[in-house]
Amino acid sequence: MDLGIKGKRALVCASSKGLGLGCAEALAAAGVDLVMNARGADALEASADSIRTAHGVQVQTIACDVTSAEGQAQVIEAAQGVDILVTNAGGPPPGLWSDWDRDDFIKALDSNMLTPITFMKALLPGMMDKGWGRVVNITSQSVRAPIPALGLSNAARTGLTGYVAGTARQVAPKGVTINNLLPGIHATDRANSLDGGVASQKGISIDEARTQREATIPARRYGTRQEFGAACAFLCSQHAGFIVGQNILLDGGATNLTI
Ligand code: NAP
Repeated sequence: MDLGIKGKRALVCASSKGLGLGCAEALAAAGVDLVMNARGADALEASADSIRTAHGVQVQTIACDVTSAEGQAQVIEAAQGVDILVTNAGGPPPGLWSDWDRDDFIKALDSNMLTPITFMKALLPGMMDKGWGRVVNITSQSVRAPIPALGLSNAARTGLTGYVAGTARQVAPKGVTINNLLPGIHATDRANSLDGGVASQKGISIDEARTQREATIPARRYGTRQEFGAACAFLCSQHAGFIVGQNILLDGGATNLTI
């Protein structure tokens, strides 16, 4: 399917690896020029090079922490005039509800709620002026069904979801859509490290931990970054202009819901 976005320009935050990289690759495959970001410059440059080689698009890289004010200023300057924004950042650490204090919440809210809001506030006006734009926020299945140990993530991402629900309806008249993609378990570094946590907690091997976690998913496997990226690219396509303010689960059926 021709996504109809060849020649457009996208900012994909936190995109040297994992789900962000999947989104960058899928947009590049549709002919979209990119601004890519991550903290580690080596992995970022390697991923950008491989995308340039595979897809012949222009890729600008900004190595910085996207959750810091300085990093945000750098990325926003490079991304002026983009047509597409994909927000992403690392997730907060797991823990117990009674252990988190104000500073832990402020950090989680900064990373997973206020950072995407900062990017939307900076880049939505340019999209609205042009009468076309697409925003996809990478959130989590924990927005639909809580993951108890990830209370910081549950709280911050639900706050972002509330903001998007109203804002998406305010910018839609200008041809701009905002939607959220909610990953379940995908085979990325983060999933591998969570497998490692389960393995050491239960005294089993990492392979056994993964087999046990896969068994909880009706699709009986983890998702791939390529599948995730393809869904993101579709939401950013010309075909998705009537999809507004939605929260789309990509979880192999793991979240047991009727609607
Ligand atoms: P990942 O494989 O660990 O990749 C994270 C990417 O983001 C890397 O490129 C990393 O590069 C970059 N990054 C992290 N923090 C950053 C920061 N502060 N500033 C700039 N770049 C940053 O993670 P993932 O699995 O793709 O997860 C992406 C998001 O989806 C996370 O918020 C995660 O909690 C959420 N999620 C993932 C899953 C899953 O199963 N994979 C499920 C639900 C939710 P650097 O480290 O070099 O900065």
